[in-house]
Amino acid sequence: MKYDIAVLKGDGIGPEIVAETQKCLDGIARRFGHEFAYREALIGGAAIDACGIPLPQETIETCRACDSIILGAVGGPKWDGLPAEIRPEKGLLGIRKELGLFVNLRPAKLHAALADACPLKPERITNGLDLVVCRELTGDVYFGAKYRDEDGAGHDDMNYSIAEVERIAHRAFRMARQRRRHVTSVDKANVLETSRVWRETVQRVSLEYPDVAVDYLYVDNAAMQLVRNPRQFDVIVTSNIFGDILSDEASQITGSIGMLPSASLAEGNFGMYEPVHGSAPDIAGKDKANPMATILSAAMMLRYTFGLGAEADAIENAVKSVLDQGYRTPDLYAGQGTQVGTAQMGDLIAAAI
Ligand code: NAD
Repeated sequence: MKYDIAVLKGDGIGPEIVAETQKCLDGIARRFGHEFAYREALIGGAAIDACGIPLPQETIETCRACDSIILGAVGGPKWDGLPAEIRPEKGLLGIRKELGLFVNLRPAKLHAALADACPLKPERITNGLDLVVCRELTGDVYFGAKYRDEDGAGHDDMNYSIAEVERIAHRAFRMARQRRRHVTSVDKANVLETSRVWRETVQRVSLEYPDVAVDYLYVDNAAMQLVRNPRQFDVIVTSNIFGDILSDEASQITGSIGMLPSASLAEGNFGMYEPVHGSAPDIAGKDKANPMATILSAAMMLRYTFGLGAEADAIENAVKSVLDQGYRTPDLYAGQGTQVGTAQMGDLIAAAI
């Protein structure tokens, strides 16, 4: 089967880590008999340099014409002095909005070989750690009216419509069916009206998924449970602001920013897949970047947008086997095993595939 993938390399280490990801996807194509056609487009600083703006119309059209997007990262000191409206990050926010990407998925998975990097006590992570935070991206206090009244007090309105909550709740329950069939909905329903709408709606949607277990936590308790007993979680579904905070907390449990993939999904199966980290200008062009976050983002693309579970497993197993053999990029290297650069890490994972 043929899949069209928009490739937005972006800035800094973006081109390097995306190149290694394409190597791995090509390995998947060979092994499973697929065809991945890549269509490159500009975003961020690279687009500013070429066209004066961070998100050219041509890029939006290329993305719309494709089945999914792989993104490296945007930004860097070269563009830091520009006005906010044309900064590289604006390209990222723009593409999310243009394509209706309303849910952000951030898995936090601890690889046994990297257990030492986890800041939690070993007994809290025995048998590993594997959860995903499913954060709503288009509603909440970020998008409500913002103003100051005549006394100078600041206001940010917090809003959620039933339709917005239904949409993400369905997404979370469907995702749980591809995992361990457990959803934890996080809110602050003891205090906030938006959270009461959130909880009632998730409860109603949950009736359509009797095979998925569901429980409800207040956000303060959820933040505590994430460090106290993270193994209790499978899929955490939550609002924009709570998800912003909890997804950072969850991802740090795995200990290494170079390992964290993410997906931003629209209605249907369309999605944009990118590492959690930024463009790391300090190591750009030095063959030091860890490409695994982007490679694992491609595995998420295969699973969630293309429905290719075995192919996604093949990437994840290849990453695991290379780590088990002791290969480490500089960000992971702690004196043991074999230190390798970006390109060699990509070659090793592609060969393992
Ligand atoms: P960063 O994530 O780029 O880097 C933070 C630190 O982590 C740096 O020391 C970097 O070398 C290291 N690091 C990051 N990714 C790594 C990888 N794959 N392998 C090894 N080490 C890695 O964050 P920052 O320094 O705050 O931001 C740099 C630029 O990236 C800024 O312009 C920022 O706006 C932008 N940014 C972009 C995105 C995005 O495109 N999604 C996200 C965050 C930051």
